[in-house]
Amino acid sequence: MSVTVNPLLWRDQLYINGQWRAAASGARFAVDNPSTGDTLAEVADASADDAVAAVEAAAAALPGWQALTAKKRSQLLRGWFDLVMQHQEDLARILTLEQGKPLKEAAGEIAYGASYIEWFAEEAKRIYGDVIAPPAADKRIVTLKQGVGVVTAITPWNFPNAMLARKIAPALAAGCTLVAKPAAQTPLSALALAALAEEAGIPAGVINIVTGTDAAAIGEVLTTHPLVRKVTFTGSTAVGKKLIAQTADSVKKVTMELGGNAPFIVFDDADLDAAVDGAVVSKFRNAGQTCVCANRFYVHASVYDAFAKKLQVATEALRVGDGLQQDVTLGPLINEAAVKKVEDLVADAVARGAKIVTGGQRLSSGSLFYLPTLLVDVPPDARLAAEEIFGPVAALIRFTNEAEVAEWANASEFGLAAYFYTQNQARIWRFSERLETGMVAVNDGALSNEMAPFGGIKQSGMGREGSRYGINDYLNIKYLAIGGI
Ligand code: ADP
Repeated sequence: MSVTVNPLLWRDQLYINGQWRAAASGARFAVDNPSTGDTLAEVADASADDAVAAVEAAAAALPGWQALTAKKRSQLLRGWFDLVMQHQEDLARILTLEQGKPLKEAAGEIAYGASYIEWFAEEAKRIYGDVIAPPAADKRIVTLKQGVGVVTAITPWNFPNAMLARKIAPALAAGCTLVAKPAAQTPLSALALAALAEEAGIPAGVINIVTGTDAAAIGEVLTTHPLVRKVTFTGSTAVGKKLIAQTADSVKKVTMELGGNAPFIVFDDADLDAAVDGAVVSKFRNAGQTCVCANRFYVHASVYDAFAKKLQVATEALRVGDGLQQDVTLGPLINEAAVKKVEDLVADAVARGAKIVTGGQRLSSGSLFYLPTLLVDVPPDARLAAEEIFGPVAALIRFTNEAEVAEWANASEFGLAAYFYTQNQARIWRFSERLETGMVAVNDGALSNEMAPFGGIKQSGMGREGSRYGINDYLNIKYLAIGGI
């Protein structure tokens, strides 16, 4: 296709040690537009050798990066943030082309990803140690916080910009260098981000990007190479478990942002209009392909029909299509397997008695566009209440009391996000404390921002991204015992 974005940002090579280069094998792979099926670019297809070169480059760049003052690192990150925002439109276009989400949502993701760069540019200067009361008069106890060293990041296709930005930014702020492997479906956003980091003067080797289709081979290097001190991953729980196991032999630190199965609960005293607004944001953003998307709606029996009616209206107002078109609010799913999975889950729910109120099929046969869908009378044991749908399907289940819905909400091996709507202040506290998730949104459909700690419990992962806690994942505490004073 003809390139319609700034050529500075349109990159198709690996970025290793400050150089744009082909894969050692010369191999390339195609990146397709999920809306049209067109091939957008042929990108360098890295092998394990390229991953080793990238890790070695990150290790070589580490002493120089650590030697900079926190203030200097902060200024470089800030400069990168400014460039990302200057190029927001082009970055959004690249994102929509390779990922499919509506352009406005893509621009939102660029700003959201950039907010982590801005935030950690600020946090870079606020890494504090302690002076601790000693056990003897002639001793002193002091703690230092130091960057862990070389970090590797493996990121998914659903937020090709933001998932990477929120790993690179805290790593660099902490004085670490990094190698990233973006998802093979969406490497262009990652390469564009690196091009702007280069432009901002972030030194060679501090950020390295290895694109490729052999995730297992590249991933093995990134999780086992002795120079790597930490692995940070966003993706499926199945892959996350594999990566944790691979890091065990060399005892690396890990941050894992894995799958979710968010309950969205509407109590009988909820503001139903607000609940519908929140449901649309939480369910249909990115066509339902986020790990914090509402996955199962529990609606109190006394407001069930009223909520379903309002949600039907809101669902039918969404417009599916190519994200580059002006009024489109819902893009395609990422690939055929994703659509098949959604179809299977809907078929299972219907077989168990659920009714399709709207949607329930593709926009046209064979396309990757799945219509925004509302299912009612969904039984609590339908498969989509237990499995991540990752598609635009809202499934409404009835409940009758708080104890019952608390049990259902917590009956999951996942523990990422939960949403609930109520006007009862006591219930807000009581129910929030009872939910087994890392994040709880109360009367709100959007919970992710750079100031808050994002992360899960149970099989949704470990570690936090964003907030003042986010940098801790990239720091070691060193304790100095000073005697003879
Ligand atoms: P999703 O279902 O969102 O595609 P995955 O967990 O499969 O989630 O993918 C997330 C990231 O993990 C992608 O960059 C993918 O290439 C990578 N990945 C998948 N399998 C492996 C593996 N065995 N080792 C390392 N990375 C992997």
